Amino acid sequence: MLFCEQCRVHVRGGLHRCPLCQSPLTGQPEENVYPTLLPAKKTMRLLLRLAALATIVVAVICSAVNFSLPETGWWSVIVMAALASTWLVLGVTVHKRGSPMKAIVWQLSAISVITLLWDLCTGFAGWSLDFVLPIFIPCVQLAAFIVVVALCLRPAEYLFCMTFCILAGFLPLIPLLCGMLGTLHPTVICVGVSLVALAGLLLFKGRELKDDAVRRLHL
Ligand SMILES: [Zn+2]
Repeated sequence: MLFCEQCRVHVRGGLHRCPLCQSPLTGQPEENVYPTLLPAKKTMRLLLRLAALATIVVAVICSAVNFSLPETGWWSVIVMAALASTWLVLGVTVHKRGSPMKAIVWQLSAISVITLLWDLCTGFAGWSLDFVLPIFIPCVQLAAFIVVVALCLRPAEYLFCMTFCILAGFLPLIPLLCGMLGTLHPTVICVGVSLVALAGLLLFKGRELKDDAVRRLHL
């Protein structure tokens, strides 16, 4: 290891002069002080490829099993739909990873539409409106709140997306008022949570929200 006689300190790496006093260093320089890291992008690409391979393996095995057992119904189609949905959401997140709040809004929209379509295409049993959406939306609102606190986002970075997530929580009121629901509790809780969240947003960030709206709508 290198040593500075002036400062009496050890210096790691292959420097020629002391970083503190600029005097020449004595001793042998070290090679490769830092461990070699695989670049993050390469790791991400590798993970995506492994996940893609795993998806193909699962799809092939399910199709093969289903094809040899046709009397069990065409359940492999549901497996394929689930795999496709997961990939769509993953794609959105990877695409939007620079702005997590936008990613959350995209996920909320994408998963809600996928869930509704899935329910509609499988004979509309109503589980999407009864359970999945009213449970999913408050979870997204919580996730958005955690992201805002954890990343210390500025109001301009989150107010628009946060308002979107909170207002989305009132959409389950439509099927509730139209009498389309079999189970009311999840929707009532979802609307209640959204109401509290909206009140909190207006009470604590009302002024910033108004400024943000003025800025975005060019009022
Ligand atoms: Zn020195």
